[in-house]
Amino acid sequence: MFSYRHAFHAGNHADVLKHLTLVATLRHLMRKDGPLLLVDTHAGAGIYRLDSEAAQTSGEAAGGIERLQALRGAAIEEENQAPALAKSAQTAINNIADGLSDYLTLITRFNAGAAPRGAWRVYPGSPLLMHALMTEGARAPVHDRLKLFEMHPTDVQALAAHVDQLGAGRQVSVARQDGFEALKALLPPPAASAGSRRALVLIDPSYEIKTDYAKVAAAVQDGLRRFATGVYLVWYPVIPRPEAHGLPRRLKTLTQQAGRAWLNATLHVGAASDGGLSASGMFVVNPPHTLKGALDAALPQVLNLLRDGPGRGAGWSVEAGAEKR
Ligand code: SAM
Repeated sequence: MFSYRHAFHAGNHADVLKHLTLVATLRHLMRKDGPLLLVDTHAGAGIYRLDSEAAQTSGEAAGGIERLQALRGAAIEEENQAPALAKSAQTAINNIADGLSDYLTLITRFNAGAAPRGAWRVYPGSPLLMHALMTEGARAPVHDRLKLFEMHPTDVQALAAHVDQLGAGRQVSVARQDGFEALKALLPPPAASAGSRRALVLIDPSYEIKTDYAKVAAAVQDGLRRFATGVYLVWYPVIPRPEAHGLPRRLKTLTQQAGRAWLNATLHVGAASDGGLSASGMFVVNPPHTLKGALDAALPQVLNLLRDGPGRGAGWSVEAGAEKR
């Protein structure tokens, strides 16, 4: 128990898929004024140093976000009319998908001060990304709430310290509590004055324990029963294990039974030479109508940069199903 530390994996291809999807989803929800409840059932430490021993040992960010940074760095130089770029880089920049650009702009902001082509020092996890989007833009975010749950004794302390630095007061809370259990007490969210309730829930366990797969499905089913219009995002690994194979199928079935819309996105960067994780998926219940288009445009570009050489099995997919009334 608790051998998993996200610091080894922060900014890898799985984080890229997860956070790209999260940012595109949340960005859409933030366009409306009504208060929003945000829940991260498995929050991690909040933000990670890319030059830490953990990141350097695993090298996972080097095969993930750091490859995308090259694109972003080139884009900034282009904006600054820096010396001419290679033609291929120019083409990539001109065509960078909006969702990908938005995600990379956010990561850049956490690395303010780094030279356009200088190495990024940190990678924000889901709690800090959600907080950043929550406090952005013209809408009044004072009624939004961000509830973070993390069980690892060291990571929850780090998370609490990072949240403290945000100075967000009661808007953001951190608890060392089982995220699956905690979620039950939070749904449905309180009604806004206008009568509309809104919530986004990210469920992102480490799947260290086999029972996590069943707990995820149960959490989504229970969530839909308590609050059918909530947006639920589930990250899962694509690995040859029956529980892992079964999870997206199970989520699709129970979402369809509830008559709700769904989206399932996968990213496979090609067979990892070290036998590590090479593919993962994001299942979204009640996705915004803009999400499919955003991912259809962004994922081929992401794959282009993250695939490993000829990358046996490399690919991406976005499947979606409509709401049934
Ligand atoms: N959501 C984070 C992000 O995107 O930046 C990463 C989370 S990491 C994949 C999963 C985290 O869940 C680990 O930090 C682990 O310690 C924590 N964890 C494991 N079991 C948990 C539980 N039952 N409740 C809450 N957190 C748990």
